[in-house]
Amino acid sequence: MHPIYERFMGQVEVTNSCWNWTGTKNPDGTGRFHSLGHRLFAHRVSYMLETGRSTTDIRVTQTCGNKACVNPAHLVAHQLDKEPSLYDG
Ligand SMILES: [Zn+2]
Repeated sequence: MHPIYERFMGQVEVTNSCWNWTGTKNPDGTGRFHSLGHRLFAHRVSYMLETGRSTTDIRVTQTCGNKACVNPAHLVAHQLDKEPSLYDG
């Protein structure tokens, strides 16, 4: 298990549909997770923890439309043509 998983899940309210981020959020509702001096999107971290994939070359969005949702079952990755910032979503 990834060492940040426990701290991450401590900020998640798991329901039988969405997993709602209860930590810091952007004004638009997107969850923020702070780790090792980085400010990351919570749903990206969730996707990374679930799949083991680096998320540097993909964009992760929620299929449920809930920007605070970090349920891996509701996350979908989109391949990007260019190298994005870690903070692009
Ligand atoms: Zn959801």
